[in-house]
Amino acid sequence: MFINGQWVDAIDGGTFAVTNPATGDVIGNIPDGGAADATAAIDAAHAAQRDWVATTAYSRADLLMGAWRLMGERATELAALMTGEQGKPLKASRAEVTYGADFLRWFAEEARRITGEWLPSSRADQRFLSVKTPVGVVAAVTPWNYPMSMLTRKMGPALAAGCTLVLKPAEATPLCAKAIFDCFIDAGVPDGVINMVTASNPAPIGDVFTSDPRVKKLTFTGSTAVGRVLAAKAGANLQRVSVELGGHAPFIVYPDADPVHAAKGAAALKFLNSGQACISPNRLYVHRDHADAFIDTMVPRVAKVKAGIGTAEGVGVGPLVNEAAVAKVAAQVDDARAKGAEVPVGGMRLTDDGLDAGHFYAPTVVTGVTDDMTIYREETFGPVAPIIVYDDVEQVIDLANDTNYGLAAYVYTKDLSTAIRAMEGLRFGIIGINDVNPTSAAAPFGGMNDSGLGREGGREGIAEYLETKLAGIAL
Ligand code: NAD
Repeated sequence: MFINGQWVDAIDGGTFAVTNPATGDVIGNIPDGGAADATAAIDAAHAAQRDWVATTAYSRADLLMGAWRLMGERATELAALMTGEQGKPLKASRAEVTYGADFLRWFAEEARRITGEWLPSSRADQRFLSVKTPVGVVAAVTPWNYPMSMLTRKMGPALAAGCTLVLKPAEATPLCAKAIFDCFIDAGVPDGVINMVTASNPAPIGDVFTSDPRVKKLTFTGSTAVGRVLAAKAGANLQRVSVELGGHAPFIVYPDADPVHAAKGAAALKFLNSGQACISPNRLYVHRDHADAFIDTMVPRVAKVKAGIGTAEGVGVGPLVNEAAVAKVAAQVDDARAKGAEVPVGGMRLTDDGLDAGHFYAPTVVTGVTDDMTIYREETFGPVAPIIVYDDVEQVIDLANDTNYGLAAYVYTKDLSTAIRAMEGLRFGIIGINDVNPTSAAAPFGGMNDSGLGREGGREGIAEYLETKLAGIAL
């Protein structure tokens, strides 16, 4: 753990093991912190806040640029670490390092654009000046699926705004968090500005984060169930809250789309990170006119996706995070099969060729999916593409919106009016139009309804860490 500029053990001396999800090998032992460690980290962040807020935006930007540069220089080692700890193929880890680093560069630039406003008054002898100030100490909780970029997406804007921070990374990926902290430390971050508490049991840390009055903001990425609980606790103490939660993304192929292009997009997108992405397409609505062409394009492509250990040549899909994840995916596919769906490719756990020690599920396509199947309603978080054939173009937006989630949605069409009407009608925070990667450090990321509150990235991303202060001035 990292508290007040020092790598430290847990106060009670406990540790927990970190394993490689592809092999089951133990790859590290990490301090197992508790409530007292979390409080010590908040002590440090609180003590550092006064000096950090007094730094110039230029020096904060320089620090972030320094950390960005170090992530670039260390990209190969960071990617190897990520593949070993999280499981995604090396190429995908490299892409995440670049994506994650880009948040530091973007928010380094945004740091210098925090400005105020001179406002009119109805009184001739009065002026108003509105300025932005950092919210103060930030508590951050991050997931394992994107174990570096989910940190930089929070640390970048927090530090740029002038906030100090306490992080609790996911218990599955603390080594990635440590490597990101090393970039900040080597870039010269002052003691106490960033702090990290690791724990095998996150609940006591969450309780401290949401009850300590010195914490002014909670930022969380993870499941809707945990986000809801933490947001409620933080809300009770009037902490600011940003929560990026689960998703159940629809992927709509309109009659005027090119079904082959759409199927290639779906096959590329669905299996990224083994489907363990909150913006992964989970319901593929394909118009009946295109069903055959779409399925005939997608199935052979998916059949060619090689599952395996992320360091091996040609591997396109790594393991799932743990056994519970494999069981959840298997249960969804089995339920769909029992209710009449077909599984033209995949549909089973993978244990051959040395994969038995890891948590592997085959890249899978399920056809004939209907709304009575669990997979239609529940977020999958695995390498399964469920295809739903629809007839009525007028109804497909209602079908896509028929979920409590509202994070990402995808639309394939060649018609501009269809695209715009779909974007306007879909209740989702991020919409890919003929595009499978609608994300960037420069673009606001976040969802509606059960997918969360607030946005990360873009101009919005730094606003979440600032509050407005007004001066009314009598002349
Ligand atoms: P999770 O909610 O179980 O865990 C997320 C983080 O919360 C981890 O660090 C975990 O240790 C911590 N946590 C769990 N219980 C806690 C508690 N009581 N107090 C404090 N911290 C606690 O989710 P997960 O399994 O790690 O991630 C998968 C989920 O995250 C999926 O639903 C996915 O859609 C979502 N996700 C969303 C985004 C997004 O930006 N919207 C990004 C990545 C993942």
